[in-house]
Amino acid sequence: MASAVEKFWVTLTNDRLSRSLLVFAKVMNLFNQVGVAFARLRTHALLRGYGGGADRCGTTPLFGNAPRSLARPRHARRMKTKLVTVPNLKQLIQPCPGFAKKGLADYKLDAAALCEFGCVYCSSNSGYYLRRNREPFAKLTEAQTGERTYPADDPALMLVWTDVEKQLEAELASKPKAYGAGKTLVFSMLTDGFSPTLVGKGVTERVLAMLVEGTGFRIRVLTKNAVVGTAKWVRFFRAHRDRFVVGLSIGSLGNAWMAGIERRTSSPPARLEALRNLQRASIPTYGMLCPVFPATVGVELAELVDLIRPDLVEHVWAEPYNDRVNWQRVRDAFPQGSHEGERFEAMFDGSEPAAWSFYCAELYRQLRDRLGKNWIHKLRFLLYEDRVLPQHAASFNGFEGIILQGKPDDAGASKNPCIAALQRRPEPVEDEAEPPTYH
Ligand code: SF4
Repeated sequence: MASAVEKFWVTLTNDRLSRSLLVFAKVMNLFNQVGVAFARLRTHALLRGYGGGADRCGTTPLFGNAPRSLARPRHARRMKTKLVTVPNLKQLIQPCPGFAKKGLADYKLDAAALCEFGCVYCSSNSGYYLRRNREPFAKLTEAQTGERTYPADDPALMLVWTDVEKQLEAELASKPKAYGAGKTLVFSMLTDGFSPTLVGKGVTERVLAMLVEGTGFRIRVLTKNAVVGTAKWVRFFRAHRDRFVVGLSIGSLGNAWMAGIERRTSSPPARLEALRNLQRASIPTYGMLCPVFPATVGVELAELVDLIRPDLVEHVWAEPYNDRVNWQRVRDAFPQGSHEGERFEAMFDGSEPAAWSFYCAELYRQLRDRLGKNWIHKLRFLLYEDRVLPQHAASFNGFEGIILQGKPDDAGASKNPCIAALQRRPEPVEDEAEPPTYH
C-alpha cells in the first residue's frame, strides 16, 4: 500500500504546474553545479603555477606550463647569480624593533647581506645597512665580478657573508638552550633566508636546525620561495611544528606585470600552493599580503584572501605599497603609456595626493569586509598613516586590526591630525536605559 508521502508525490508530479516547477528547479540546480565547478576550475587554474617550466627556486613545476603572457620573463629565468662576499656582521641574531612594531617578531636572523630575489620594490635596498655600505660593497662587487653594480640596479647581485654557520655556532655557544624562549625570531627580515643559493648549499637547513637545537625561539619563516611547500621542507617543519610558523609573502595572484617586479621569486600561484601544502600538514602558517598593489584591490584581493585560507592561518598581515625610494622602478614595469602605469605614477609623483590615501582606505575596507566577523581578529593591517587624508580617515575609525606605523608624538598620538582625532574619539557608552536581561 502506497504511503501518504508517495501519494502526495504522485499527486504533485501529476500536476502539470508542479512538473514544470520541478524541471525548472532541476535546471537551476544544474546551472548552480556548473557555476560551482567553474569556480573550482578557476581557483585550481590560479594555483597551477604560471612559472612555465622549471622553477628557478628549486621547486619542481607544480602543474603544466603557463600561458605565455604570464610566464616569468625569459631573462629572469636565465639570470645567473653574481655572488659577492662582504665583511661579516658582528652579531647574526639581533633585536628587530621595526618588526616588533609590526607584531611580527622580536629578533631577526638574516643569513645573507643581500637577497638573491632582487624584487624591484624591496625596501631593504634603501635600508640603513645597504645605504651605509653602498660604496664599500660596490667596490667589492667590482673587485669580485669585474662590474661595479648596486643592489637596486642589479637583480642578479647577491651579497653573502663568510661562513654564517660557524659564526652562528660561536654566538650560540655562550647562550643557554632556553635563549629566546617566549620570543619570536624572524628568518629573515632584510633578505630571504630561502634564497636559492642558500637552500642549494644547505645553509638554510643547517642554520634552522641550529636555531631549533640551540635556542628556545619560535621561528617565523618569511619567504617568497615555494620550496618551503615541497615534501622535504614540509617534513622538516612538521618535525618541529611547535617551533615554526611559516608565511609566504604574496601581494597578487600573478600576472605579467607582477613577474616584472618580482623577477626571481617563485610565482604567486606556486607560493599559494606551497602554503596549502603546509596547511594540509597542519604546520602553523600566517598570511603575508605585503604589499598589495593597487591593481590587486578588488576581485583579485577577495580571491587572494580566500586562497590563503583565513580560517587556517594564525594571522593576516597586509599593507599597501609604500614608496621606499623605488616607485619609479615599479612604475616602469607597467607597459609604457598604460592606464595602470599612469594611475600608479599619480599616486607617488605628488600630482594626486588623494589617490594613495583612497587606495589605502579601500584596501583596508575590502580586507575587513572579506575577513568578516569570523576572521577580522586575525588582521594586522600595517598603516603608515602620514599620508592619509581627512576625507578617507573615517575608513579607519575603530582601528580594528590596524597597527599604526608612523612615529607618534610625545603623547603617543599619531602625528597625522585626522588620525589623532579618531584616536581621541571616546568609546561608545552603553545604553544604560536598556540593561541586558540576562548575562
Ligand atoms: S624576497 Fe623580500 S627581501 Fe628578497 S628582494 Fe624580494 S622583497 Fe626583498
